[in-house]
Amino acid sequence: MDIGGSTLVSYPEGEVRGRSAVVGTVPVGDRHGTIVAETPFHPLDHTWPDQPADTGTIGGLAVVDCVTGAVEEGGETVRLGEDIPVRRGTPGWSWLVVHVTDAPVPDREVELVVDAAVRHALSAGHTACHLAALALNAALAGRWRKEVPCDALGHPDFDQTAIASSRILPGGSRDVYRLGKSLRRKGFTAEGLAEELPEIAQRAGDRLKEWVAADAPVWIDSPGPELTARRTWHCGLPGGEVAIPCGGTHLSRTSELGALTVTLELSGDGSELTMHTAAG
Ligand SMILES: [Zn+2]
Repeated sequence: MDIGGSTLVSYPEGEVRGRSAVVGTVPVGDRHGTIVAETPFHPLDHTWPDQPADTGTIGGLAVVDCVTGAVEEGGETVRLGEDIPVRRGTPGWSWLVVHVTDAPVPDREVELVVDAAVRHALSAGHTACHLAALALNAALAGRWRKEVPCDALGHPDFDQTAIASSRILPGGSRDVYRLGKSLRRKGFTAEGLAEELPEIAQRAGDRLKEWVAADAPVWIDSPGPELTARRTWHCGLPGGEVAIPCGGTHLSRTSELGALTVTLELSGDGSELTMHTAAG
């Protein structure tokens, strides 16, 4: 199979439509996977599956799932999702967007149409997720006794140091942080966290309100059009421009988020902190 290298993607610029040549097909269970040269579809990432796959149509057929595929240079077998044995972007592999349909795609050249309403809701959720992480870092800054890497606003990066999983939802996100021994060893004070939680959520929420009111611009920097190009999310916040490595989709201004709220929840044994973020 000659698929001609990694899939080129147009979703980082916010694209939801495209037309492209079919360059390969691969069975996905008893469904059909179609690979095109260039697509607006965002697939689930196999290494850090935070943002769900786009839905929509390819050649008029419903895209029921969209997954990441990889094929080793000179190889024949397309590996899918969790079966990919290497990390995202590993050199020597072509990285593919695989559009999954119930029936085979009959055409050699296809129209690709992403469900724009679902995409918009996921973009809002993803932008909200990054802003909430920065607001949480600021709200927890006083709890560090040792130096850890800081985020772009100069606060100890609790988010990147403690994150266990991040899920982007339509219009929001759910981030789970591990508060185990290793985080304490790095200098994080977890004592009294349960009691202070409402205050921390309030501080984070107040900051988010300011950032939404500031109508700050949001954009993606991309070194290339390939699926696994190392893209970066940027936001021109009043306190300075921030950047976070990110493979997802986003809104273009913070004001589009409307009322942005966070709630914090500590697990019964205190080992996990969950942040629920919701835009509205
Ligand atoms: Zn991201």
